[in-house]
Amino acid sequence: MTPRLDRTVALVTGASSGIGRATALELARHGAAVAVVGRREDRLADLATEITGAGGRALVVPADVTDPTAAAEAVDKTVAGLGRLDILVNNAGLMLLGPAPGADLADWRRMVDINLMGLMYCTHAAVPHLVEAAAQEPRRVADIINIGSLAGRRAFAMSAVYCATKFGVGAFSEALRQELAHQHVRVSVVEPGSVDTELRDHNDPAIQQQLAAAFGGIDRLQSQDIADTVGYIVTRPRHVAVGELLVRPTEQI
Ligand code: NDP
Repeated sequence: MTPRLDRTVALVTGASSGIGRATALELARHGAAVAVVGRREDRLADLATEITGAGGRALVVPADVTDPTAAAEAVDKTVAGLGRLDILVNNAGLMLLGPAPGADLADWRRMVDINLMGLMYCTHAAVPHLVEAAAQEPRRVADIINIGSLAGRRAFAMSAVYCATKFGVGAFSEALRQELAHQHVRVSVVEPGSVDTELRDHNDPAIQQQLAAAFGGIDRLQSQDIADTVGYIVTRPRHVAVGELLVRPTEQI
């Protein structure tokens, strides 16, 4: 039988839309209390209402994870409000595509700050609590799930810095996995292919058109497909650690 997440607490960054929102709902369905983190507080409040309406527990934690103090406070508020921390899902991310020569350095900085530094700040703050939870019932194991990307395995033209951040997520995760293994804190990377979310909407219209042309003909993943993957990983028995899962739309080359 799949172990449930009753009496555990999860924190999901970037829970205001897309993969993060679906993942927060999925973890709540598995029985976890969920702290939902992001900048758009109205969206987080709607999500929390949906979770509590279905009988779950949720805590709205508005935060910009690129601020190390705010990231640490988000973790502290989660533990103060929900009592512990068993699962951290580092999902918040930004993808700004375009040619590297002549690119706006501010765009590169934003991606590094969110995709890499934000993930690291949240992890840094969460690790002591995860170690503590892993030493306790009900699971005696804890989880960090980092949302990487297919772009963290293969580099693509027009995606140099986005790929660099996602390759970085893979490296950080593997090193951390080795450091935390004996404390029963599992570190996993989920690497989605193309998912139908708001992610591409932050790009110039011309880039958005190129993406639509490239993926228009295929049946893309839905956020729930990635939420299912996260749910699978965190419900494995204590001795099973899923290090890495690449999930693509069937038709994506
Ligand atoms: P969305 O744009 O829907 O979600 C991104 C989330 O990140 C939003 O909830 C946003 O919330 C949050 N976020 C952005 N900046 C910050 C910040 N500074 N502080 C806190 N939260 C922030 O896209 P997806 O759901 O697709 O993206 C989720 C993850 O999945 C990303 O890491 C992305 O790289 C990855 N991914 C997505 C793929 C896809 O095809 N969609 C493919 C591969 C990986 P708010 O604006 O409220 O702060």
